[in-house]
Amino acid sequence: MPTRKEKRLPDHRPRVMILATGGTIAGSAASAAQSSYAPGQVGVDAMIEALPGMRSLARVRGEQVASVGSQDMTFAIMRRLAGRINTLLASDEINGVVVTHGTDTMEETAYFLNLTVHSKAPVVLTGAMRPFTAISADGPLNLYNAVAVAADPEAAGRGTLAVMNDRIHSAHSLTKSNTTAVETFISPINGLIGTVNYGRNEYFRHPFRRHTHQSEFSIDGVTDLPRVDILYACADMPADLIDCSVERGAKGIVVAGDGNGNMNAATIERAAQAAKKGVVIVRGSRVATGTVGRNVEIDDDHLGFIAADELNPPKARILLMLALLKNRTRRQIQKLFYTY
Ligand code: ASP
Repeated sequence: MPTRKEKRLPDHRPRVMILATGGTIAGSAASAAQSSYAPGQVGVDAMIEALPGMRSLARVRGEQVASVGSQDMTFAIMRRLAGRINTLLASDEINGVVVTHGTDTMEETAYFLNLTVHSKAPVVLTGAMRPFTAISADGPLNLYNAVAVAADPEAAGRGTLAVMNDRIHSAHSLTKSNTTAVETFISPINGLIGTVNYGRNEYFRHPFRRHTHQSEFSIDGVTDLPRVDILYACADMPADLIDCSVERGAKGIVVAGDGNGNMNAATIERAAQAAKKGVVIVRGSRVATGTVGRNVEIDDDHLGFIAADELNPPKARILLMLALLKNRTRRQIQKLFYTY
């Protein structure tokens, strides 16, 4: 038995909380070289145990918030995540948060948190394209790098971030571009926030749009978000899709338009009717990159439409859902698309 108390050195490592939601990063397959697998099988504690090297970066703890493939992500889970992150970061006990998430809808949750978390502290999403059990799984290094960014005071004030494959993306910009490749996420319009190489972070810029601590959106006390549908434009698009959405109670419709937010004449007519009844019509694009501008080939001023500017349709949908929580004019909603 020790006769005198050992002196403990103070632990100055940053404190990072990992909130796990499932996805391929927690996926498991019967063998290391097969394409079929089940997402969301490995618990957060097992992921932390598998990466003892993370302890040199931060004091890491984990909580399991959900265990879903992100194709099954819901606004109920997103709200729970935002609420938990706001509580954790308000307490000063946590310096940064990592959210492990499937890659399919990572950009949507990232953008939702970018608008509903009210803190400067780093919030970093990460995931994987290969299951935890695969040859050359990408999840462990992505998680390690995400913890390095979440623990870094330099990452603060840059909004919600996503770390995948050595790249640091902003929630506003990132989008999934390949169904299977490890290098799937791109930030096509504004470029990367930075890079991270085995825990060494480098930053190029701050986000150009408002986010997190500057956001005017709040989901405190919100239990339901208004229905907003996305309709995908194509040659000879059936115009009555607009009517179906309106009949089903959509308060807003984002059209993933052809090119610069276009749709055929019949759809424009139905959309204009819906807009007259008070449904908010946002013109986005099905094209992977580029902005959608006002009054280019479609007279938005006359028809009462909104242009999505830089947001892709899934993110335009999230901004519109949050915007519709309050009474806002079309002009005010358009301004939100230029601001966030
Ligand atoms: N379907 C999976 C998911 O989004 C794909 C992945 O995580 O890469 O959860």
